Amino acid sequence: MALVRVLDFRQDEHGDWLAVLSCGHTQHLRHQPPWQNRAWVLDAQQRQAQLEKPFLCGWCATEHAASEALTERPNKDLHKER
Ligand SMILES: [Zn+2]
Repeated sequence: MALVRVLDFRQDEHGDWLAVLSCGHTQHLRHQPPWQNRAWVLDAQQRQAQLEKPFLCGWCATEHAASEALTERPNKDLHKER
């Protein structure tokens, strides 16, 4: 699992909100209804309420999956050579 905590929120150059996560990554929290409905992110009080909450980091999840794939492949190749 790639559950981390929300440390802070900030806005990028386009005014889109980002969550700053305890793993060092940032994740966009775009409010684009009806696809991504995150009206709460526009409200300072509701953002404060999300601080320190667990957050599923998509970057960490991707890295985790990638590193698993990388560590699995060489092992299989070694087995083949032996
Ligand atoms: Zn992360």
